[in-house]
Amino acid sequence: MRTVIYPGSFDPLTNGHLDVVQRAAKLFDRVVVAVAKSEDKRPLFTLDERLALVERSVKNLPNVKADAFDGLLIHYVEKQGALAVVRGLRAVSDFEFEFQLALMNRKLNERVETIFMMPKDTYTFLSSRIVKEIARLGGDVSAFVPAHVRQALSAKLAALPVQEN
Ligand code: ADP
Repeated sequence: MRTVIYPGSFDPLTNGHLDVVQRAAKLFDRVVVAVAKSEDKRPLFTLDERLALVERSVKNLPNVKADAFDGLLIHYVEKQGALAVVRGLRAVSDFEFEFQLALMNRKLNERVETIFMMPKDTYTFLSSRIVKEIARLGGDVSAFVPAHVRQALSAKLAALPVQEN
C-alpha cells in the first residue's frame, strides 16, 4: 500500500489543491490530505471547518481521505506509514521555501521522500490567500473553488465583524 501525505493549511481548499490531489490519486494507492492546524497563520476557517471542506471535496475519490494534524509533519507521516509527502509547485516563488522544507524533512527522516506536482496551468496563479481577498472584496470566486467552499466563504465573511480602517 503506497500512501502519500498531502499536507497544507487549506484555508480554504481551492481548485488548485484539488488538481494536485487528483494527480496524486492516480499515482498512489492512498492519498491523505492532511489539514494542518497552522494556528500561527491565524486561519480564517477553524481546523474543523477546513477539514470538513476538504472531506466534502474528496468524497468522490475512493483512495483519498482527509485528516487533521498538529505538530511536526514528519511525525504524522511516520504515524500514517506513508512513503512520501506531496507538495504543489506553482511558480519559482514557491521553490525556495519548498526546497528548504523538503531537505529539512529529509534530515528528520531520510526515508521519507518529497514529491512536487504542478497543477494545470490555469491554477498556477491561485492561492487560498488570493481567493479570500477576492471574496472579501465582493468578487466572484466560483471559478477558483468548489461550490460548497464558495458558500462557506460567503457565510464566514458575512459573519465577521465589520473592520474599521
Ligand atoms: P501551506 O500553509 O502549507 O502553504 P497551503 O494550503 O497554502 O498550505 O498549500 C498546501 C500545498 O498546496 C503547498 O505545497 C502549496 O504550494 C500547494 N498549493 C497551493 N495552491 C496551489 C495551487 N493553486 N496549485 C498547486 N499547488 C498549490
